[in-house]
Amino acid sequence: MATYRNGNHKGSVKVDRPLSINSSPKSSSFKSKPSPPSSGLRRSSSGSLGGSPAAAKNDAGVPGRVRVAVRLRPRNAEELVADADFADCVELQPELKRLKLRKNNWDSDTFEFDEVLTEFASQKRVYEVVAKPVVESVLDGYNGTVMAYGQTGTGKTYTLGQLGEEDTAARGIMVRAMEDILEDISLETDSLSVSYSQLYMETIQDLLDPANDNISIMEDPKTGDVSLPGATLVEIRDQQSFVELLRLGEAHRFAANTKLNTESSRSHAILMVQVKRSVKGSDSSLSSDNSNNSHMVKTFKPPIVRKGKLVVVDLAGSERINKSGSEGHTLEEAKSINLSLSALGKCINALAENSTHVPVRDSKLTRLLRDSFGGTARTSLVVTIGPSPRHRGETASTIMFGQRAMKVENMLKIKEEFDYKSLCRRLEVQLDKLVAEHERHQKAFEDEVERITLEGQNNISKAEQNYADALEKERLKYQKDYMESIKKLEEQWVPVVSVVEDVVELKNMLQNETRLRKIAEEEVNNLRSQLEQWKRSEAAGNSEMLKLRKMLEDEEHQKVKLEEEIAILQSQLFQLSFEADETRRKLDRGGSGKVLGGLDSLISQVRHPQLKDSEKGEKASIAKLFEQVGLHKILSLLEAEDADVRIHAVKVVANLAAEETNQEKIVEAGGLTSLLMLLRSSDDETIQRVAAGAIANLAMNETNQELIMAQGGISLLSMTATNAGDPQTLRMVAGAIANLCGNDKLQIKLRGEGGIKALLGMVRCGHPDVLAQVARGIANFAKCESRASTQGTKTGRSLLIEDGALPWIVQNANSEASPIRRHIELALCHLAQHEVNAKDMISGGALWELVRISRDCSREDIRTLAHRTLTSSPTFQAELRRLRIDN
Ligand code: ADP
Ligand code: MG
Repeated sequence: MATYRNGNHKGSVKVDRPLSINSSPKSSSFKSKPSPPSSGLRRSSSGSLGGSPAAAKNDAGVPGRVRVAVRLRPRNAEELVADADFADCVELQPELKRLKLRKNNWDSDTFEFDEVLTEFASQKRVYEVVAKPVVESVLDGYNGTVMAYGQTGTGKTYTLGQLGEEDTAARGIMVRAMEDILEDISLETDSLSVSYSQLYMETIQDLLDPANDNISIMEDPKTGDVSLPGATLVEIRDQQSFVELLRLGEAHRFAANTKLNTESSRSHAILMVQVKRSVKGSDSSLSSDNSNNSHMVKTFKPPIVRKGKLVVVDLAGSERINKSGSEGHTLEEAKSINLSLSALGKCINALAENSTHVPVRDSKLTRLLRDSFGGTARTSLVVTIGPSPRHRGETASTIMFGQRAMKVENMLKIKEEFDYKSLCRRLEVQLDKLVAEHERHQKAFEDEVERITLEGQNNISKAEQNYADALEKERLKYQKDYMESIKKLEEQWVPVVSVVEDVVELKNMLQNETRLRKIAEEEVNNLRSQLEQWKRSEAAGNSEMLKLRKMLEDEEHQKVKLEEEIAILQSQLFQLSFEADETRRKLDRGGSGKVLGGLDSLISQVRHPQLKDSEKGEKASIAKLFEQVGLHKILSLLEAEDADVRIHAVKVVANLAAEETNQEKIVEAGGLTSLLMLLRSSDDETIQRVAAGAIANLAMNETNQELIMAQGGISLLSMTATNAGDPQTLRMVAGAIANLCGNDKLQIKLRGEGGIKALLGMVRCGHPDVLAQVARGIANFAKCESRASTQGTKTGRSLLIEDGALPWIVQNANSEASPIRRHIELALCHLAQHEVNAKDMISGGALWELVRISRDCSREDIRTLAHRTLTSSPTFQAELRRLRIDN
């Protein structure tokens, strides 16, 4: 899986993935077996609304029908009095999940729902069957919708929005959903935010900031995600602040509606909860504070984030607005007030009937809910009804709405992304830390060296000064003594009283002078030895300096190593982003196969450039990598100590070598020699395979072929073939030799170094790809030989026959694999063109194959060539006549 691209950081890549059984371990209700969509009603084993997305596993998602529950409100005080003498307009059969709508005293219609909730159903139960499965899906990374539909006063707000502060058992779906979410997520790693808005007369107003009353809807054209970027988004850390927020929203809703002179029952309230979770365990080995930086280069994956969005919608009352305007609206206003709700009805009808056109764009509500109906979200609808027979008409139409919504089929998709940004951020922090540390070290060493140098120089100049001073002092002293002695002698010389006495005195003086001179000489020696000592201490200073210089060099060396690691990091980053791009392209194309192997795919991309539109971009990326890291650096990494680095580097070189424009540069920079060295020295099969592949690519060029031969390439390739176990390695080696076989100038040398024997040796593996390369090599060789024979530069039997290739050729001449067969057919034709080979070919059974080729070969050119060869050879003709075969 290694293809490379320059490491510029792409944003997130969306990966829509269908829900699997394991992705929802908490929700037992999700795991029940699905019934086919046509069966109308489905019930999960736990009796909840939870559907069953586990079965179908494909890119389009998992089918998840919209689940619908019906809830009956208990009679209120007024109804208890006014309807005292009348029966309820509905009769519920919760255990059968049925509802009977009375037509009159003796007749009723029966409807089935996913869940039937009587007037006694507790808020807790309603939450568990209607909303809990949706909340669990959202926590697993899906979108989810919970919605209430019904006539004003039937309990929509009670079901969804009740805060339950006086009576905790009355807590509604919004409050309970948030409790479950807060319990499940981790506040350190996950994030949770909500917005709360209302839609009235096609205008969206922020309930958390009422001044913000013209919010627009944004749709992401790529993912289809719908959002309200203008609405206030509040991070939620605890339940208390969420309840406060709901209360604030409710107050604003009330105030806004009073100001507009409308009723809240005419507006739709929309709560959006966004849950962003990082998936544990995906972040494998990038430890942020690990100072041993060779660890950093090991493989790592970007973390995955799941982004589920829960939308809770308290719809406007479903009763028809009185067209006479008795609520104080003009007819135009009345139309606008109802627009969103009636558009929702139309969309649901269209979806229920599988109509090709769904008028999603007709209203803001349907645009906001496009993922909830016919989209990728898990959707649960609760339709609320009242018991009073006076509202039978509205109740009936509410029930019909619920029935149609049950037919809407969604395809659930997980919302998962690779979090490249956070990975990139962490890598950059690491990099900066290393660079700063390196800079500090370098500075400290430079300072230390400067200090020692200065100190050494000071010591030397001080010693020199001391020496000069002492010498000068002694010199002056002796000069003075000498002058005094002379003076004394002169004085004594004048009165010649007693020559003898004088002579004696002079003798004494001379002795005295001699003694003094001895002392002076000793003093000079003493000074000299002192000077010697100073020189020694200077030498010690010098060796200290040398030591420091060595340390500085080591530091420099380490810097180079760090730069190499940085280069590898960059190239890995590039590789990652390429893989991500590749994955995304795969996903875009809808393919589900895995990404092609690096070297093979790269080679094939280079050889079939017309196949890929993105080819130019990849070439540019490789070129950029080239510039950024530098070929010499990449080549030097081939000899790195760390085996992972070596593998990585040889892959990069192989990828570069697949590009014709890079080949010359690689060879010039000594890459070919390095690759051959790698073949000789490495025991790693991956390295050998990739290096052989690179050599095979370089061996397509004639100059390189000579270079490969000159550097002992044949014996290295033979040795690799002997030790290799992986057929792909053998394929690369055989491909390289096959290319060399096609060079006219190298025929004799190639054979002399065992090239043909090495080729034949590889057929033991039996893999068709390897056999095809062997056959191609033989055909190339036979063709060159044939040319040489024709030009008269070669006489005597074919070297192929000499080296015993004929039995294998004959045996595979009719191979089922067409690449093998074609090459061998050509080789046979070339061999047959020269009479010297004819006898061996007849005795080896090749004549029969030639006859077969001249008759049956599907390629006309080969058939004709075989025929011409047979008819022009007297030896073959004689044999055919002897066997009485016409040709
Ligand atoms: P809607 O939002 O559909 O207009 P409400 O939720 O405001 O209706 O309910 C109208 C009245 O009925 C409220 O006083 C509410 O407390 C009460 N009510 C609704 N459903 C129930 C129920 N299941 N049990 C008790 N009271 C309810
Ligand atoms: Mg309400």
